[in-house]
Amino acid sequence: MKIVLLGAPGAGKGSQAELITKEYGIPHISTGDAFRSNIKAGTEIGLYAKSFMDKGLLVPDEVTVKIVEARLSQGDCASGFMLDGFPRSLVQAEFLDKITALDCVLNISVPFDVILKRLSGRRSCSCGAIYNTDSHKSDSCLKCGNTLFIRDDDKEEAIKKRLEVYQAITAPLVDYYAQKGILSTVIGAETILDTFSLVKNTLDLVWKKG
Ligand code: ADP
Ligand code: ZN
Repeated sequence: MKIVLLGAPGAGKGSQAELITKEYGIPHISTGDAFRSNIKAGTEIGLYAKSFMDKGLLVPDEVTVKIVEARLSQGDCASGFMLDGFPRSLVQAEFLDKITALDCVLNISVPFDVILKRLSGRRSCSCGAIYNTDSHKSDSCLKCGNTLFIRDDDKEEAIKKRLEVYQAITAPLVDYYAQKGILSTVIGAETILDTFSLVKNTLDLVWKKG
């Protein structure tokens, strides 16, 4: 099963991706995570990507596409994968079409006010865990005990920019995939598990088709 998760920043792609990977056993490929691990490791790509990410801008297509191409060519992606955060532009979508055939593009749609609340309350841990101040009042991580922090791109100015970039550059992909007949939209306004039951209904059908 080859799937793409589409949705605005804060739509909950990462949380759904974690559950989808567990349920269907396909590798989870997150370009955001790939960039963050490059930043952590201090690579040249990381340094380059960070200058865009901190401002809420997209990392240029040439670099992003190379990272995805390298990852998809690894053996564990041969029979299936889930892309989270890629493609985010028409250029990236057209590139992906050239190298593979997708089974489903899952669009997680969330009202704008919910998105804003989620992004501004997001707290991150160095271990990768993510919380929201709504449901998690403490400033330490439940998984590892480290102190939580606000990602540079979760600061107010960057949030505004990320949402603008989404509207202008990424949102047109919804139509792009609808026209190809592979788009499914689920509403992701409630809890992670509520959304996942909708996601699972959709993906079970795709999975059966094989
Ligand atoms: P979110 O979905 O909450 O914005 P991500 O972790 O998916 O967070 O992405 C963080 C940042 O990484 C983005 O704002 C962007 O700068 C960069 N990035 C991730 N994926 C892509 C992509 N496909 N193309 C360009 N930039 C990307
Ligand atoms: Zn942690």
